[in-house]
Amino acid sequence: MRAAIFLTLCLLLPLVPLTVAQAEDAQDEAWPGDPIDNHVHMTWAAMTLEVNEWADENPDIVKLEDVGKSRAGKSLWVVQLSDWSTEFKPNGSSKEIIYIDGGHHGNEYLGTALAWLSAKYYIDGWIEGNEEAIQVLQNSEVHVLIMLNPDGNDIDTRWNLGQVDLNRNYDHYWNSCPTTQPGTSAFSEPETLANSVYMNTVVPDADLYVTMHTGVWIILYPWGKWPEQPPDWELFHSIREDVNGGISDIPIQNANQGLYPNCGTSRDYGYGVMGFPTFTFETDDEQFIPGSVEALNERLGEEMDVMRYLINNVWYWRARLDVQSITIDDDTLTLDVVNHGMASTANATLEYIGESGEVAWVSPFFSVNATNSSVVSFSVNAGMFGDEGMWNLNYQKRVINAATWVNETVNVSAMYVESEQDRFLIGYGLFNPISVLAAVIGVAAFANEAETRRKSERDEDNERNDASEN
Ligand SMILES: [Zn+2]
Repeated sequence: MRAAIFLTLCLLLPLVPLTVAQAEDAQDEAWPGDPIDNHVHMTWAAMTLEVNEWADENPDIVKLEDVGKSRAGKSLWVVQLSDWSTEFKPNGSSKEIIYIDGGHHGNEYLGTALAWLSAKYYIDGWIEGNEEAIQVLQNSEVHVLIMLNPDGNDIDTRWNLGQVDLNRNYDHYWNSCPTTQPGTSAFSEPETLANSVYMNTVVPDADLYVTMHTGVWIILYPWGKWPEQPPDWELFHSIREDVNGGISDIPIQNANQGLYPNCGTSRDYGYGVMGFPTFTFETDDEQFIPGSVEALNERLGEEMDVMRYLINNVWYWRARLDVQSITIDDDTLTLDVVNHGMASTANATLEYIGESGEVAWVSPFFSVNATNSSVVSFSVNAGMFGDEGMWNLNYQKRVINAATWVNETVNVSAMYVESEQDRFLIGYGLFNPISVLAAVIGVAAFANEAETRRKSERDEDNERNDASEN
């Protein structure tokens, strides 16, 4: 009689948040708060007064940080929005992080206004009791650096006071292509240096970075440096399909091809160095006609619809692996894993930590495609897995090498059942409170552990021999 061990683990499903469709339903709601009809060209002084007012009047959701100075000594303000009464989401998990900046180019007022509006929407919404805004602030942190180049803004010029194009001054293939004034070295300018420090120290785990400009009405994703699609092209293309499929007809393209080759940009740095899903949002270049009256939230209504979609669905902008089952028979471990996220992952591993805390087994690397599931099998020695050990899953959030890693303990309650051979006890443990959300639990039995061990040892020898041939 062939002996086998079946070990099936019941797993907690992560709580999947608002769906895309649910988020879209909310978009018909009216703009929260009063119509906004000014601030097309906002001076740094006016913005400074306003963001301080936001923080003073709404300490529950607005924190204000001075994260650096421009060349002329003007503060670079970051408005940090979230429900600050709690560090975590209502379900106990970590909040998603969104990073937005505007005003790299001082003469691109409408792009700067879109950054300002992105903060204002959630502040107004929270005050008005808007459900979408409350959901966002309870489940995420939105960090907005509205005006990165206050000196250029106040004198209506693209450059900063050092006559540098700040959006060519980042440390990602800096000055490696025909370019406008990139500065004397990467991060030679206090404004870009402050921005990179903020990215690296405050929001390194952001799952969305949008940098706002004015020019041609378009949304650009990496790369600017190369015409090739980026490693996470699936994610960028999925977002394009969603946006163009019902939110806005705005073109969404690889920056190199959609605009022109460029390098040392905050977009390529945000993706290539930080691993953020990054977009450059270019509003159109028709600034307001003098004397005309058009509420800014209406002028940029469509752009805000896209921003709200990107923010509402930020949970999906990475890989989200969810182990369905781990089944072990005498010489094979089979892992069934679902990816709820819209980014693929590479270099994933499953590891088993033995009772004494040492890593007893690590799977070979495997990958899981976006919004897909995988069943992968590995040759193992079943005897090494006990019911007291722990399982860990390690994977990159996105395919780009710079992406942060997720190292999570797979929540399991392992069940070994000893009984007559080949008898399945389907449903055992189904009502274990920790596994209420688990999909299916199946448990089988093993008959002769000693025989299994001996057989496994033989298998291991065989595997070793196989491996030495590769
Ligand atoms: Zn620009």
